[in-house]
Amino acid sequence: MSEETIKIAVNRILQTPIDQLGKKLIEELFAGYHDKATNTYKESNFDPTDEFTLTSEQYKWVDGGKVKTTLGTLVFNRFCLEATGLIEHLHYWNKVIDKNCMEDLDSEINNLVIIDKVDTKTLGAFVDRRDTLGFWCVSFLGVSISPGLVRPMSNVNKRKAELFKQYDKELHSDNPVEQIMATNKIEKELMGMVRENLKDDPGYDMYASGDGNLDNNYKTINVMRGAVMNKATNKYDVVESSLLEGVKKKDIPAFSNSIVAGAYPSAVGTAEAGAMAKELMAVLQSEHLNPDPNSDCGTHSTIPFTITKKNKKYVVFRYIDEGGKKVMLDIHSVNNYIGKTVNLYSPQCCLDKAICGKCGGHVFHNLQVTNIGLLITPITQKLLNLKLKSKHDLSTSAIIIPENYATIDTSQYIKIENGILKNKVTMKLFIPRLMEEISGFDLETSSVTCMGILPIKFYDKSGSEISSSLLTIPAVKQFKLYEELGEDPNNYIATYEPNSEICDLGIQQNVVNVQFFLEQIFLNSKSPQLPYNLMVDMMFRCMELNKIDLTGPTITYELLARRLCREGSKPFAFVYGKNMGVDQMSYTKLPYRKAVHEAGPLQAILFQDIGTGVNRGLAMTLNGIEPEKTPLEKVVKA
Ligand SMILES: [Zn+2]
Repeated sequence: MSEETIKIAVNRILQTPIDQLGKKLIEELFAGYHDKATNTYKESNFDPTDEFTLTSEQYKWVDGGKVKTTLGTLVFNRFCLEATGLIEHLHYWNKVIDKNCMEDLDSEINNLVIIDKVDTKTLGAFVDRRDTLGFWCVSFLGVSISPGLVRPMSNVNKRKAELFKQYDKELHSDNPVEQIMATNKIEKELMGMVRENLKDDPGYDMYASGDGNLDNNYKTINVMRGAVMNKATNKYDVVESSLLEGVKKKDIPAFSNSIVAGAYPSAVGTAEAGAMAKELMAVLQSEHLNPDPNSDCGTHSTIPFTITKKNKKYVVFRYIDEGGKKVMLDIHSVNNYIGKTVNLYSPQCCLDKAICGKCGGHVFHNLQVTNIGLLITPITQKLLNLKLKSKHDLSTSAIIIPENYATIDTSQYIKIENGILKNKVTMKLFIPRLMEEISGFDLETSSVTCMGILPIKFYDKSGSEISSSLLTIPAVKQFKLYEELGEDPNNYIATYEPNSEICDLGIQQNVVNVQFFLEQIFLNSKSPQLPYNLMVDMMFRCMELNKIDLTGPTITYELLARRLCREGSKPFAFVYGKNMGVDQMSYTKLPYRKAVHEAGPLQAILFQDIGTGVNRGLAMTLNGIEPEKTPLEKVVKA
């Protein structure tokens, strides 16, 4: 379409008063329709992707004189940003309106609310207008299905047959890691062909925008079902057929397994995530901030935290130590630290009972909230949703854990052969006794299934300990057992003669791994599982590796570490805050239930198991330990 013709639309969009810019105009410009009376199809007059140059004379919010933009972007700016007044802060927002763009815009606007530039009413008005525009347009712009998406692709199917032949040996290997690697290679190549075939198809818009996940339903329906874990053989059944091709007789067991693997964890997981919300609230109810944002407990200690593109939003308004200088991260400056490990001031270091402004950061002060322990439920809410949805998501791909993830110090006494972890010298694995607490952990005669984060020790030929380390695989793993387990009060102990196959390093990227991390490392363990200063960084590593975002700020996990890692009756933070050099495994780890019971009778009563709570609480009081205050007290006493 010529720029002259497009100008007609530009002028109409610009000249329409803002309160009249609505559904009627948008449909006139962009909607095609089918006339039933004459059975004719009328093309739309314009396309929202039609490009033109917009100058700051035409529209004063354009920065830098002029920009190349599209009709749709102009409508979006006027309808969502100009009408709400947000454009005064953001100016002309000229990005392709897809999932990334909307995330960026949402965080910019949220930031404006937090720093008091706009009020929550404006935020609400923006959300309403954004969604209204979306719902109006989806009927004529959002193509959910197109012939190209439904038809089998002959080039893909032909290549699939070739690849399954080529990788036949690997797909039927006894080593599940080899099976996964081959399946991933095949799927990657085939989905690449699919994307190439679809790139000009309007049905692909929904996927290109980042909203739909082509590797989920489309792959299963049109390309191949892929790898399904068979718990009977502990190998994968790799199903070549897609749903469209139909289930072959030999694939019936695998398809049935995939149904069970989808529905059961989803059902049980929903209940577990619900219970976890209650547990977190009970544990953290007494954690609170010093209301003075400029308070400073005087600590010089920090925790290392690796900032990534994904997690950067969870550390804004927090302080870091940069060469002895206290620097605040805001939503723009945080971008300078992506890919870097920063020294984060943290409640894990705070020497005051009420967490100071330096260690807690300013986000909650900006929101005028101090009882932050009660604000941690977003993560369990998200966990619940992910669990509910998990049965619909068949895209969870399997990966091999990178070698540097296997142990904390890439120990010289282990080796990885063909994706299998082996030991060079005699090794012992300390498996926490959490089988009863965490459903999904399992002890059998020839194997034990639990989270792959465990202390390990190495011994020489005479049985003397030569080294100790940590296994740090952030996923549920099945460890082989060759002899009877030993025991100590906190652990089961598995012993491996040199050169044993311990476990494979393949994992299914899955929300379950993240849930187990929370359950084992933070909530249930009765002894230190990870170095104190690395707990939060490892939690985020676990989430990235499993492609999960629980949408909670890092402080959620820092508070858990502060609350559950103790030194006597005090937080270990009081020790670490004075001396960063302290042995990072020397804290006492409280399981959450005990922590609640020991916090005081009232906290325990508000939780569950009143009997134990009152007994413990009274004993603590008799020993001269003050019960922790909880904001819920006010509610109870009122
Ligand atoms: Zn502090």
